[in-house]
Amino acid sequence: MKPANQCNVFIIGSGPAALFAAIRLEELGVEGIVIADRNSYPAGGLLNDGKLNFDHRVGIDLNELQIDIGTARKLMGDIKRILEGFPYLRQVTFTENNETVDVIQRIALENGVEFIAPEQWHWGTDNGKAAVDYLRGYLKKTTFLMRTEVISIEEAKGKGFILVLRESGRETRIASGTVLAAPGRSGAYWFRDTARKLGIDNTFGPIDVGIRLELNRIIYDPITESVYDPKFIFRTARHGDRVRTFCTNPGGRVRFEAYESFKLVNGDALHGRKTENTNFAIINTVALTEPLSDTTEFGRMIARQFDLLGGGTPIVQRVGDFREGRRSSRSSFNSRIRHFDFCRATCKAVPGDITLGMPARIIDNLWESLKKMDKIVPGILHPSTLMYAPEIKFFDTNFPTTPGLETNREGIFVAGDGTGKSRGIVGAGISGIIAAEGIARKFFPERHR
Ligand SMILES: Cc1cc2nc3c(=O)[nH]c(=O)nc-3n(C[C@H](O)[C@H](O)[C@H](O)COP(=O)(O)OP(=O)(O)OC[C@H]3O[C@@H](n4cnc5c(N)ncnc54)[C@H](O)[C@@H]3O)c2cc1C
Repeated sequence: MKPANQCNVFIIGSGPAALFAAIRLEELGVEGIVIADRNSYPAGGLLNDGKLNFDHRVGIDLNELQIDIGTARKLMGDIKRILEGFPYLRQVTFTENNETVDVIQRIALENGVEFIAPEQWHWGTDNGKAAVDYLRGYLKKTTFLMRTEVISIEEAKGKGFILVLRESGRETRIASGTVLAAPGRSGAYWFRDTARKLGIDNTFGPIDVGIRLELNRIIYDPITESVYDPKFIFRTARHGDRVRTFCTNPGGRVRFEAYESFKLVNGDALHGRKTENTNFAIINTVALTEPLSDTTEFGRMIARQFDLLGGGTPIVQRVGDFREGRRSSRSSFNSRIRHFDFCRATCKAVPGDITLGMPARIIDNLWESLKKMDKIVPGILHPSTLMYAPEIKFFDTNFPTTPGLETNREGIFVAGDGTGKSRGIVGAGISGIIAAEGIARKFFPERHR
């Protein structure tokens, strides 16, 4: 479709928050929708793994979205309805009559740990493009501006906004009555700066800092065969902090996530080809008050420290070395004598010492939690298990909004991970739907049913 220089709803980003918002807007009969993304393919994080958690306790903050459990369930139902025809999506965790769940829940409780087994579906990174094509199939009237970066948002004379765009080095402008910002984590700081210039209120939220564990999948299979992505939640005895497991990938790979001045670790799994390993994140929630409330800067300092130590690459340490208080090194990395060959790394991080880059309190919390987890899933802390760092989730800017996700600047709405409204694909999609309904209710009441 031909780009227009005027539209009704301009959506920044093309991840799940944006696509589900556009689908809902079209369903409501709203026309003149434009989606812009600086990438060449409209997907955002949909090309990653595609593990869908349908549980209001995972990736959905009811308070932040100002919804109750019933509404969250209804919105999860909407996401499922939209995705139900996608052939590569398969259910991987069944919550009803799952005996393993009851057993793990009991053992976890005995160890003072909370265990959640959400209903989960998965399509795999290798089917990510097909998932995006499938979702785009719903969008008959939306205009996509790809390889188009939104540089700034300016107030238009009278009503609405002017979006300043850059495409192939060329600057263009487009006017829009409303804007939905769904820039994801990669665009979060650009949008925060832009929002401040427009007088949009925002505050620092907590971040999650931790590591990614990779182990021979034999150890974790008895659990992940029943619960694909098990969620263990710990409250640490020493510091009283919250630690949780996150994003488990049975038969998956550890991957790097590149940012402008550092790399973080993450993980995914393919649908068609499995590795011998399983990986998952274990992360510590960090909130700051005074004198420093800027969790972003704190997280970036940690990331930069690892970047420095690893010469631009994340660091990996064997549990066997960690226990003995020594760094991992290339020469002994796959040592048979030390049983390190039981787990072959799927990712080329630099062998080193993760305790050099991570604050002591976080290391304490992670290790205390892992020791508890080793009682629930014996073998997790096998000497060969790999600890990759840093894994940091920057969901750290919160925007106070109306129930329709409109900010204090009339006409500017927010959704998705980059604006603190979600943590994951389903949550991002739900926040997109809520924002779409908020836009339709306020600006197109004749169409909103
Ligand atoms: C390796 C990896 C694996 C993951 N696995 C899972 C998983 O299995 N399950 C799950 O639920 N979540 C997973 N996630 C997280 C998931 O990808 C995100 O939660 C989700 O994509 C957030 O959606 P969003 O729409 O808010 O933002 P995004 O999907 O990040 O999309 C935002 C888009 O906005 C664009 N953008 C930003 N700023 C601008 C600008 N100024 N101009 C133009 N475009 C801009 C970006 O290019 C991006 O495409 C994973 C993430 C990674 C990195």
